[in-house]
Amino acid sequence: MIINADQISWRRENKVVLKDVTWQVRKGEHWSLVGLNGSGKTTLLKMINGYIWPSSGTLSVLDQSFGQTDLRELRKRIGWVSSALAEQLRPVEKPESIVLSGKFASIGLYDSITNDDHHQAKALLDLLDCHPFADRPFGTLSQGEKQRVLIARALMASPELLILDEPCNGLDIFARERLLTIVQKLASQSDSPTMIFVTHHVGELLPCFEHTLLLKAGKVYQSGRTEDLMSPKNMTNFYGGNVVVERHGERLSMAIHS
Ligand code: ADP
Repeated sequence: MIINADQISWRRENKVVLKDVTWQVRKGEHWSLVGLNGSGKTTLLKMINGYIWPSSGTLSVLDQSFGQTDLRELRKRIGWVSSALAEQLRPVEKPESIVLSGKFASIGLYDSITNDDHHQAKALLDLLDCHPFADRPFGTLSQGEKQRVLIARALMASPELLILDEPCNGLDIFARERLLTIVQKLASQSDSPTMIFVTHHVGELLPCFEHTLLLKAGKVYQSGRTEDLMSPKNMTNFYGGNVVVERHGERLSMAIHS
């Protein structure tokens, strides 16, 4: 089992941030995690990565139960791609060394780059369509280009679980679709890690993420097969308010009702 959360809650300052969240992710499944700002997504991800512990309930990740495991070892098996990560990297570095550093993040041996590592880094940069900007410093890349390099970097460590944490934030509509096409390609590869795609936007829901967890105000609103949950009616109810959700082929769009 990749994630086995049983009735986990997290309380702070008399506030219940997560309440009775039960979620099971099995090897080979790909999930979307959807919730508006403040619904508890980041808190749940921090817990999965072992930065905070449940106030109650039980959680195991990659078959490791918290309290009985070396969290640093566990984190090496998880790729968590977030905008915070981009800020920690050196802007002068070229994409290839950024990707290679993904291996160091995993094993911590800075002086052990092999030819195979170079080949793997290049193959990942190709997979993520990074060749047009492979020679440019990371700091000069657009947001969407940076995201692709970061995903390649995470894959360099061969994670068993890959979390894409709001990867489309700040992207224009073309860069967003470009990234989503690449993510879809990754998810459909037979050897891809189990992936969790985190978003607040129903328009980014890809059918290749066959399962979806809808989080609302710290609670599981619904969880199940994406095709069952992503009907316009259900998603309109999920968002509440004056939201209009419409289907366009395999995708949804969302707008505020005027
Ligand atoms: P999301 O990632 O979905 O935007 P978060 O997990 O960041 O949601 O936050 C969920 C809610 O919990 C928010 O209302 C946030 O203010 C609150 N929260 C998060 N961390 C803390 C904390 N350490 N203490 C108190 N409240 C917190």
